[in-house]
Amino acid sequence: MPISENARAVLEKRYLIRDEHGQPTETVDQLFHRVAGAIAAADARFDPKADVDATARTFYDMMTGLDFLPNSPTLMNAGRPLGQLSACFVLPVADSMEDIFDAIKNAALIHKSGGGTGFSFSRLRAKGSTVNSTGGVASGPISFMKVFNAATEAVKQGGTRRGANMGILRVDHPDIMEFIGCKNDTHEINNFNISVGLTEAFMRSVEQGGEYDLVDPATGTVTGTLNARRVFETVVASAWQTGEPGIIFLDRLNRDNPVPSMGEIESTNPCGEQPLLPYEACNLGSINLVTHLKKSGGRYVLDKKKLGDTIRKAVHFLDNVIEVNKYPLDEIDKMTRATRKIGLGVMGFADMLLYMGIPYNSEAGVAQAKEVMELVNAVGHQESEKLAGTRGAFPLFGESIYQNGRPLRNATVTTIAPTGTLSIIAGVSSGVEPVFAYAYIRNVMDNTHLIETNQILKDRLTEAGVYSEELMEQIVEQGSLQHVEGIPEEIRRVFVCAHDVSPIWHVKMQAAFQEYTDNAVSKTVNFPNSATREEVAEVYTLAYKLGCKGTTIYRDGSRDEQVLNIGKVA
Ligand code: UDP
Repeated sequence: MPISENARAVLEKRYLIRDEHGQPTETVDQLFHRVAGAIAAADARFDPKADVDATARTFYDMMTGLDFLPNSPTLMNAGRPLGQLSACFVLPVADSMEDIFDAIKNAALIHKSGGGTGFSFSRLRAKGSTVNSTGGVASGPISFMKVFNAATEAVKQGGTRRGANMGILRVDHPDIMEFIGCKNDTHEINNFNISVGLTEAFMRSVEQGGEYDLVDPATGTVTGTLNARRVFETVVASAWQTGEPGIIFLDRLNRDNPVPSMGEIESTNPCGEQPLLPYEACNLGSINLVTHLKKSGGRYVLDKKKLGDTIRKAVHFLDNVIEVNKYPLDEIDKMTRATRKIGLGVMGFADMLLYMGIPYNSEAGVAQAKEVMELVNAVGHQESEKLAGTRGAFPLFGESIYQNGRPLRNATVTTIAPTGTLSIIAGVSSGVEPVFAYAYIRNVMDNTHLIETNQILKDRLTEAGVYSEELMEQIVEQGSLQHVEGIPEEIRRVFVCAHDVSPIWHVKMQAAFQEYTDNAVSKTVNFPNSATREEVAEVYTLAYKLGCKGTTIYRDGSRDEQVLNIGKVA
């Protein structure tokens, strides 16, 4: 298998089955056989004569060729007793003590199995309102988020991976100002990403500079008003300071809700790419674009035939995952099988552009994004339709927004995931993000440092006859190769890193992928440390105008402990 040492280390640390002494009892190769076999087995449920072994071989080849990988819980748990295969869940939080603590318990079970949970806290009554049974006063959504956070912290130790949460509050909840600032102390509520749920009415008030109503969810009464522009500016200021909260556009999520009869979409999964109904789960999978390139006339181009084949196999794979998945709750089992949402996306997009010689921050880059995703979405839907022919449409198809069209096996087909771990396993750039850094320092044992260089860059510089260790040191030092002398102009133009890409291009790229994605796109808009609040506001407004479903921004250096650093401190 063409995997790097890094990838092997990740798989060995977290994904392999272990005995009671913590020793792996399977090899990396056996892991992929385990997953392929368990997922292919679902075919027999629809066709007793299905050649399950042949399908298992196809799935095995697709994964070990690094053409496609399912989300981490599928790799970890398929073919094992736990059998929980989804990365994304949304749980309802209703306004009663019982419901709140049920949600905490359910989230703990999901975290233990490697899934992430999203919640809307918008139904909880405002801080200071009355508690009927006791005559006391309610402590409000943010106080309960802290309980969810503490529970997550405790489960973290024994689980397969760190539990992640999304917390959402509608902009018209009376506690919205407290929510916006609830992570300004960056040590608070650390197991949550938070997003403000914006409505179109609110965005219009921002434009017009008007006031809008705050509504107590318990009684439906208006408890006050706020100036929309001031609230928007507070969100911007907070995001500028710490990267949070993000924003999501609730009306837009619901315009694309495939089965409105089942209720409103109030939340997404932790990283924002998967809007879901309460009690719904979704399994994701990502196609590695780098292995779908071929050389034609001395240049790299997309191998559309291979990509089409992989898309079809991947949809088949993900639909099978829904079948063999063991859901942590009956309600989740029921909801997830009723809509059968899957989230097929891509990774290695930035690397693909490097091979093609196209800058990420260019119209040609954006056009390439649309071309790739249009194909993934179109062929993905064709395959889902084909599966509907043999396996039946998703059970709620008759009441879905698709009811007058062709049947589909899955209420949604496409999602762009962050691919945090998958991209390490595949050895490519993550999701649809630009390359973060082309050279960085890795601390290895006994305090020695090692410069890690992006292989595509190394090859290009070597071809051009200019590669040297000194050059790499300068790239590390400057965090970018834009101003490093001795690098040919053409290479500089193409090898842009996240910080060379202006925020506007980040948003344009997100919008390009969103145009052809059923669910949403995981994307962070990177800002330099020197960015102003006005620039952040501009990006939010642009994201709204270009049809994105939400935005997350991050200004370099705005948190003490950031995951990725450029420059010497990596
Ligand atoms: N996720 C999680 N905990 C983590 C990482 C991810 O719960 O530590 C969930 C979360 O819902 C996230 C989704 O998995 O949105 C997909 O994340 P990613 O693509 O990075 O996961 P991978 O499959 O690469 O591990």
